[in-house]
Amino acid sequence: MAKILIVEDNALNIKLFCDLLVAHGHEPEAVTDSRTALDAARSFSPDLVITDIQLPHVSGLELIQMIRSDEKLAKVPIMAVTAYSARGDEERIRAAGAQAYVSKPISVARFAQTVNDLLAGKPQTVEHA
Ligand code: MN
Repeated sequence: MAKILIVEDNALNIKLFCDLLVAHGHEPEAVTDSRTALDAARSFSPDLVITDIQLPHVSGLELIQMIRSDEKLAKVPIMAVTAYSARGDEERIRAAGAQAYVSKPISVARFAQTVNDLLAGKPQTVEHA
């Protein structure tokens, strides 16, 4: 069982991600406002952070950089989820400090596999779009 922080502003996605993670035996906690995400991560001490990229106020990319710069959270694996996969997005997401990238609408199998890989400390398997 792993503690997984979800940062996502869409209620349906939160429900989907939480249901999937609970089904795999994990303990998810979700925040909808990226402005509170860093504090939530500090107090929850997650084993993995799953963050949307398209967030109001503080974008997912900024949040990833903030987590990477935080003394307590710097080594927590981060999985980004995004609706847009424009050319260069994956590079920007990885450059910000996320280890993995899953595009929406998510494949349930791919989502679960990526979560397991990151929790096991493995690099993400290559996505065949
Ligand atoms: Mn969003």
